[in-house]
Amino acid sequence: MAYSTNIKWQKVYVLRLGHRPNRDKRITTHVGLVARAFGANGFILANVVDDKVIESIKKVDEQWGKRFIEIRQGVNALKYINEWKRNNGEVIHLTMYGVPVDLVIDSIRQSNRNKLIIVGAEKVPGIIYELADYNVSIGFQPHSEVAALAIFLDKLFSGKELYYDYMEARIRISPKQKGKRVYKCPQ
Ligand code: SAM
Repeated sequence: MAYSTNIKWQKVYVLRLGHRPNRDKRITTHVGLVARAFGANGFILANVVDDKVIESIKKVDEQWGKRFIEIRQGVNALKYINEWKRNNGEVIHLTMYGVPVDLVIDSIRQSNRNKLIIVGAEKVPGIIYELADYNVSIGFQPHSEVAALAIFLDKLFSGKELYYDYMEARIRISPKQKGKRVYKCPQ
């Protein structure tokens, strides 16, 4: 079962804030991979450059099927967010202090505005809470940007993103009850 996506015309980008190259390589890579695997189509690593993280995400995107329209790093977060809003995009900040996801997900899903989803690392500056159209919590316990992002995207796409068709994949999985089957795709 594979769904094609409506995402060609709507941007759903993930902006990673507060990445510390000496500590967060693995988790930021996971943020990028979850963004891709759960239906987002852009990844922005804000304020820092970390080639290793970006290369890992690009490699997966090339091998397992093109999903991202854009992968960028070193982008000034505040400029980027303001520009996004000027272009009529909406900004969703995931934070445990926000409103419960189930109260707002329908209106977020129903609007056809481009969506920028922000996840932090350590403390997120207050200005982000002000700029966000929605501060959204996934439960009221501190957990992880990876978990918060996965659950938010799964709710946004109503679970269909798990079956999206990833174009131009070099390899794909043939699902099996036991064992592993991966096949190469003709290019
Ligand atoms: N004090 C932070 C906060 O404002 O949510 C927790 C820091 S947590 C290590 C890193 C990121 O995970 C946060 O910036 C947020 O994006 C995400 N996060 C953690 N728990 C969350 C929750 N319950 N709901 C939504 N996002 C969460």
